[in-house]
Amino acid sequence: MGAPCLGARVGVAPGAGPRRPPFDPETMARLVMKFGGTSVANLERIRNVAQHVKREVAAGYQVAVVVSAMSGKTNELVEWVNDASKIYDPREYDAVVASGEQVTSGLLALALSEIGIPARSWQGWQIPVETDDAHGSARIEKIDGARLAASFARGEVAVIAGFQGIHSASGRITTLGRGGSDTSAVAVAAAIGAERCDIYTDVDGVYTTDPRIVPRARRMDRIAFEEMLEMASLGAKVLQVRSVEVAMVHKVKTFVRSSFDDPNAPQPGTLICDEEDILEQQVVTGIAFSRDEAQITLRRVADRPGVAANIFGPLAEANINVDMIIQVVSDDAKTTDLTFTVGNADYVRAKTILEKNQTDIGFLSLHGATDVVKVSAIGVGMRSHAGVAALAFRALADKGINIRAITTSEIKFSVLIDAEYTELAVRTLHTLYGLDKA
Ligand code: ADP
Ligand code: ASP
Ligand code: MG
Repeated sequence: MGAPCLGARVGVAPGAGPRRPPFDPETMARLVMKFGGTSVANLERIRNVAQHVKREVAAGYQVAVVVSAMSGKTNELVEWVNDASKIYDPREYDAVVASGEQVTSGLLALALSEIGIPARSWQGWQIPVETDDAHGSARIEKIDGARLAASFARGEVAVIAGFQGIHSASGRITTLGRGGSDTSAVAVAAAIGAERCDIYTDVDGVYTTDPRIVPRARRMDRIAFEEMLEMASLGAKVLQVRSVEVAMVHKVKTFVRSSFDDPNAPQPGTLICDEEDILEQQVVTGIAFSRDEAQITLRRVADRPGVAANIFGPLAEANINVDMIIQVVSDDAKTTDLTFTVGNADYVRAKTILEKNQTDIGFLSLHGATDVVKVSAIGVGMRSHAGVAALAFRALADKGINIRAITTSEIKFSVLIDAEYTELAVRTLHTLYGLDKA
């Protein structure tokens, strides 16, 4: 994102108390409030959102609201695109799936006007939110805050359709990838120099793991950017990965909060912040899991130079990301077996490419599995503690859970296991690292 952070004001937490009117538009602080799908699921929920916005307007903020589509809507639109034609045109995919956010932005603007708060809706192209042309997962390149600023000066709340932008050169609508409204919100906050970006969702903050899987998960008051980045990229979909990157780079003070709180007694939620701003740091701070994995094993691969390049080269050319890789000696002791993972969505394509290249690569057989899950533990404390992962291997073995593959890096490790053990593994690690709430 190229937009400058116009000196986000720091130091004010949610609920810091109202300023006193009359407010001077020249000096008013700005706020971005983002509401996800469940928070705008129907008209009643949209009216509830309007009450949250009303509170912040009364507190003296110029408010930009970023909304998602109603929950389930984007999935429905994606299905329609898939059913409509065998031709996959990502530009038309974007034209269709961006429409969910257009609806909620208009409805919320109406709900605000109805309770006496001047508001107007904004589509990505109207601001404009300029992106590259990677339709379906476009990156924001620039947001011009001038029109929004003029709207604030007129005393309006800006209700922005999240998830969407425009590729200026072609003039076509783009979308930012699933969960992309989070990124819209943080990027708008950077562009307008907002004091904070509040991401309202259906949980009251970031938890030590998905609270829907582990009831004993604990809400964190704070989590470091690096940890949130890993949590998000390893499967915790509470924030889109790119939103955390943008918040980190542009120093946007970002909170995750609940829209289900009483609009008149909101809780602060979880602050995503610098590592240095967290006093009590645990070794492991969170457990994430991703069901979006598939495993491929090539048996009896010739053990000679260039084989890895022959396997992974064509996959890379086809834009297929390979994640965990392990190589072991085959049962004939002369060749090797190679196991690796790819995203579920790329599984069939990856298999086809490898089978096509079987003679070049030189392997005996290909075995695949999609009923696998990647479970990861994350914590900046791992940098200075040895043996953290080894504890997990023992604990999982004690529960009879077989580990198919392992990867480690500075502040996380991941294990690939059978999907049927997901909950058991997540709970086991959560308890092992002392994360259960008392
Ligand atoms: P929204 O529609 O508001 O964007 P999402 O469904 O994208 O909401 O994200 C919120 C969900 O993320 C929660 O309902 C929760 O189940 C899930 N989640 C996964 N991991 C975590 C975590 N570590 N902390 C909080 N929520 C999490
Ligand atoms: N509506 C989009 C999705 O479901 C974007 C978002 O909600 O953040 O992925
Ligand atoms: Mg989301």
